[in-house]
Amino acid sequence: MNAQRPPEASAPLLQMEGITKDFSGGRVLFGVDFSLHPGEVHALVGQNGAGKSTLMKVLAGVYPDYGGQVRLGGEPIDLRDPRDALEHGVAIIYQEFALVPEMTVAENIALGQEPGERGLVSHGQIRERAAAEIARLGLDLPVDVPVKQLGVAGQQLTEIVKAISRRARILVMDEPTARLSGTEREKLFETVRDLAAAGVGVVYISHFLEEIFEVADRVTVLRDGNVVAVEPTSALDLPRLAQLLVGRDMGTAAGREPTVQGATGVELRGLTVPGRAGPVDLDVRAGEIVGLAGLVGSGRTSLARAIVGMERSAAGSVAVGSWSGLPAHPGEAAERGILLLAEDRKRQGLVLQRTVSENVALTALRSSLTHRGFVRLRERARVVGELIERLRLV
Ligand code: ADP
Ligand code: MG
Repeated sequence: MNAQRPPEASAPLLQMEGITKDFSGGRVLFGVDFSLHPGEVHALVGQNGAGKSTLMKVLAGVYPDYGGQVRLGGEPIDLRDPRDALEHGVAIIYQEFALVPEMTVAENIALGQEPGERGLVSHGQIRERAAAEIARLGLDLPVDVPVKQLGVAGQQLTEIVKAISRRARILVMDEPTARLSGTEREKLFETVRDLAAAGVGVVYISHFLEEIFEVADRVTVLRDGNVVAVEPTSALDLPRLAQLLVGRDMGTAAGREPTVQGATGVELRGLTVPGRAGPVDLDVRAGEIVGLAGLVGSGRTSLARAIVGMERSAAGSVAVGSWSGLPAHPGEAAERGILLLAEDRKRQGLVLQRTVSENVALTALRSSLTHRGFVRLRERARVVGELIERLRLV
């Protein structure tokens, strides 16, 4: 944020005008206008599927077939290739990070930098530069550790340093806090504010509306590929923003009665992961959504893993229907009807080289979809088709 001068007073870094984008399924952006000023944190909000990521991928040069006009620093520009965006100082941090897990923090940061004079840099230089960049941003990151050994927050910060080391003038963060804890979030906000104070324009996408009021100067609300509002954050409050987002008053949802009338779906008894979680007793009824809240390290993930048989040392019991025990592995839990959507879906839950159908059918591989070790393809197509229909998955 820029205290002396409102961001609007300066020339815009970015103007997107009348942006359209079609996929084979139809149009998803219907003439979107979006602008960003130096030093501004501009939040882009909207429900799932509203078009936020697509708009930012247009800016990243990922979709050469967009319609409308983009200007960077007032100059019209064709964004037909990711290099066009990079060359103009646009850096995007996606929900799914683009780091090389086996490489160290320093090496990943170096991937974002221009090579040295003869295109060569020594290992020492790579470390030095990374350390300098990290220090300049006032961050705390170990340069020699492979990023796969860092938590989500550390990976996030590595992405930011990588983007900033390219001298990005526009930084887009697509749901950066989705998997961060409270303190990690605060640290990220501080970094975002520092970057803005240094003149970087930040586009901040988040589902957490409270965050918008904490970091953003201005908000653009997208609904079904259309801009429904552009407002300074100071002109909005939480209920109003929620209403803009969904297109109706949210008042009724807040007073919802808890649905505890259903039959018991799952019962946890004395479920323990030694040293990490429990003992926990918990009943979850059919039709009920139960939130497990706690600080990082309080045992939420360990407990979830224990329920599906991923914690060898777990003790206690899980009861579903007439069965009670501890699943020996996630496959057994799945047979009992207990599934885990892992924290890091990209690594733990999906096989990215495989199709949507194959992934959807993955947990069912031992059941009716297989016959003597072979996958029944036609049956799989039918079951997956039904599921996709029911979940409205594209
Ligand atoms: P948001 O980021 O706001 O959740 P997206 O930009 O991801 O929304 O999606 C906007 C719409 O475009 C959705 O209907 C989505 O299904 C569709 N969409 C996104 N990416 C693709 C793609 N690669 N192919 C086809 N449709 C897509
Ligand atoms: Mg998105």
